[in-house]
Amino acid sequence: MGTGNLCESSGCALAKSGAGFTEVEVGSAYERTKLLIVGEASGEAEARESLPFRPYAQSGSLLSDALREVAVSRAEVAITNIVRCRPPKDWLSGAPYEYNAISNCIKNYLYETIDRLKPRAILALGGTAMRALTATVKGKYGTLDYARGYVQMGEGPARGIPVISTYHPAFIRRGAAHLTPLLQRDLRRAFLLATGRLVDGVHFACDVSRLGLNYQTAPAIDEAWAFAESIDPDLPLAFDIETPMSTRSDEDERTSFTDRDIKLVQFSQQRGHGIAFPFRDEFRDVVQRVLASCRVKVGFNNWSFDDPVLESNDIETGMTDDAMVMFGFLWSDLPKNLQAAAQFAGFPFPWKHYSDSDLAFYGCADADATLCVYNYCKQKMEEEGNWDSYRRYFAQVWPILRDMSRRGIPISNTKRLELKALIEREDLRVTAAIQGVVPLEVRSNKQKSGLKRTPKDTTGMVQTEVVIEKEEKCQCLKKEREGCPICVGSGIVPAGTVLKRWAMPTEFNPNSSQQVKRLIKFLKHPVPKHAKRTDESGDAAETTEMKELERLWQKTKHPVYPLLIEKRMLTKVDGTYVEGWTPSHDGSVHTTYTFQTATWQTSSRAPNVQNGLKHGKTEFQKQLASSFNGMQRAVTGRVLVNLDFKSFHALTTAHDFNIPDYARLARIDIHSFVTGYFLKTEDRERWWALSDADMSARFKELKKDETFKFCRDFKAKRAILGIQFGMGYRKLFQLNRDDFESESEARLVWEMVYQLFPALRKAQDEVRRKAAEDHRLVNKFGALRHFYDVQRWDRKQQKWVPGDQAEQAVAFLPASHAFGVMRTVLLALREKGWDERYGLCNQIHDSLVFHCPIELAEECVANVKGEMERPSSVLVYPEMAPQGLVVGADAAMGDSLADMKEIK
Ligand code: URA
Repeated sequence: MGTGNLCESSGCALAKSGAGFTEVEVGSAYERTKLLIVGEASGEAEARESLPFRPYAQSGSLLSDALREVAVSRAEVAITNIVRCRPPKDWLSGAPYEYNAISNCIKNYLYETIDRLKPRAILALGGTAMRALTATVKGKYGTLDYARGYVQMGEGPARGIPVISTYHPAFIRRGAAHLTPLLQRDLRRAFLLATGRLVDGVHFACDVSRLGLNYQTAPAIDEAWAFAESIDPDLPLAFDIETPMSTRSDEDERTSFTDRDIKLVQFSQQRGHGIAFPFRDEFRDVVQRVLASCRVKVGFNNWSFDDPVLESNDIETGMTDDAMVMFGFLWSDLPKNLQAAAQFAGFPFPWKHYSDSDLAFYGCADADATLCVYNYCKQKMEEEGNWDSYRRYFAQVWPILRDMSRRGIPISNTKRLELKALIEREDLRVTAAIQGVVPLEVRSNKQKSGLKRTPKDTTGMVQTEVVIEKEEKCQCLKKEREGCPICVGSGIVPAGTVLKRWAMPTEFNPNSSQQVKRLIKFLKHPVPKHAKRTDESGDAAETTEMKELERLWQKTKHPVYPLLIEKRMLTKVDGTYVEGWTPSHDGSVHTTYTFQTATWQTSSRAPNVQNGLKHGKTEFQKQLASSFNGMQRAVTGRVLVNLDFKSFHALTTAHDFNIPDYARLARIDIHSFVTGYFLKTEDRERWWALSDADMSARFKELKKDETFKFCRDFKAKRAILGIQFGMGYRKLFQLNRDDFESESEARLVWEMVYQLFPALRKAQDEVRRKAAEDHRLVNKFGALRHFYDVQRWDRKQQKWVPGDQAEQAVAFLPASHAFGVMRTVLLALREKGWDERYGLCNQIHDSLVFHCPIELAEECVANVKGEMERPSSVLVYPEMAPQGLVVGADAAMGDSLADMKEIK
């Protein structure tokens, strides 16, 4: 143990428990740049070697990579930490000694260091360094997701020195690899700031008055009209609204259903300019005129929020762009709040903290920042050649999704309430079963300190130990007092006495994590620990998450665990599928579709209508799924039509990775094929020689056997899907514990797939290598995803091992290609007016659902199937599909999703 010499004398709380003491690393070329990097506290390697961020240690290696990536040499910077020693168990943030340790270390060392090194700029790594070096605003706008990257004037030991804050490399290392470009960007900016190439008043401004902003925060009506007259119809117009709620939630979090009163409408058509109109009567016409004057109008999350809110106030927006979606197209994995996106686009100052003090200024900045993001995205897309891709697959697809949501999914409320009753019945059964197996001693008691007198009837009661808090009268009879073991003749029970008393246990609450932990401890089973969260003493926090309960069940086979899991499932199913699917007054559910996924899969919220209830194995699971599907029911005169692409992901996988055998089997039945090999079906070696039709017939026959069918549906299917998404066997098992006997069984099936298709593994390795090398993948539709941790060099094993983004890299092309085709189909339907004619009401994974007038149902099937089965003009594979990939579609029809009949 060794700390700096001032630690003990200054009374630092870590003087004894902190390990090591890191010196400041001052690079030989520091004088050239004068950039100081400040981390949080030493780690293990640093404490051992007394230098911060050692290049081969966890955080240091990431920092070194980032320095290399942005062409800054370690010799050009100085590096130190807020806390120079290594706190016990690396615990500083939230520790009881945090404030004391930080303030002592700053006072004792950081002031002196900064004074001596006289940095021209500081890069603060992580929230602790940011808070120590800047006057960070309180609340969410003071977090790194909002504040990073902007230049702030330093405070405390950094007073007068510009500071840029960024994510800590350790945070990025722990599962946030997608934030790597932000660390790199901020590092580069800090370097440019230190070397005088970021100019105050141009690239940044700690004092906004230096920017010469032209924000009209309280225009008179004639000024508002003057703005309307000055609009250039050919320039993009950024718009934004503020509602009574909107300053409390950020743009990217809003949905149109919470909030419809407009307070302000803001516009900007020129960077650095903005105007905010109060949404009062005399201004409404100006707002409408301004919006009508421009060809290109852009908001930020306006597709989900501003547009529908304006529309519900009778203001037409017409066709719009959404800068949040555009930003997400380019950087699908970065934080999407406006302030963060604007920083990335070069906006010079953070403004969100003005929300309470100056709404009109804040609103003008919102519009100005939106324009900034739009300009950045458009320019970037044009440079990269994917502007057309955004226009076609996002801007033109949006109205289709919006109208789909407007039509809504028809719900039978009677059936929904039947589903609720089904869940409640099961819940009663499970709750009663839980009470039956939970020992009485684990339950809380109705009478916290027990009953003073022994009751006549103690049935169902337990004896509990209580500590007497205040002295009290003894309950013994006077005549027996002498021999009373409690008061020993005094008639008084002193405070602190421990007594056994009777109490009536309350019902065990399976939804209380405290009570479940108590139960686990009582059963002498290990209480599971959280992988990432720590408790107040720095130890891994205890958890009762569902997957941990499953683990306990596997380990102990105690009957309470499956019941607890079932109870949790029921609570979730009720909230998500019954309450969440409450229909509107028109009898339908209207979701909000979003463009959140990097793979172009359609997503939705409130409710998430892509997320159905799958048919499970037990009778009850089957009942639940069919009851849920049954509540999605056509109204009189209409019918539900479902069209589903066949084996879409298997086919894109086969074509993207150029594996003809895989494609052939994907079209026949790859799941049966793998199952046959797994179960060693006798004639399996002869299957290849069969014609497609014969092979298909053979599989049909085999599927009549229950074991075969079970293995196919619950093992082979899961394994193939998992592998197509780049999953390892461990995760495959963890996600499908119900389906595999053990991890080794999951591994056997998993290995069998790769054994049968060695080309698949080679192709997946190749994709990983490419993603790691290029840091990105681009698909044939122009979809783009960035990667920063696809594979890592493991020093111990001396080989490359998969990184946090390995799965995403493998899955990206086949998944995004399939969803690209789906969007092409949506566009084709729209062009012909078929989405409206046939009542398109949902798009789930590979399928389209229509709420179609009965008399048009057959036409719908024929036309939509024809569109779906058209050769893709984008997915052209010179060897395997030179005319374009064709994927078949299945059609089914019925009154409800629970009783759909296949249409041949
Ligand atoms: N984390 C830090 O904040 N500093 C170091 O020196 C190492 C890890």
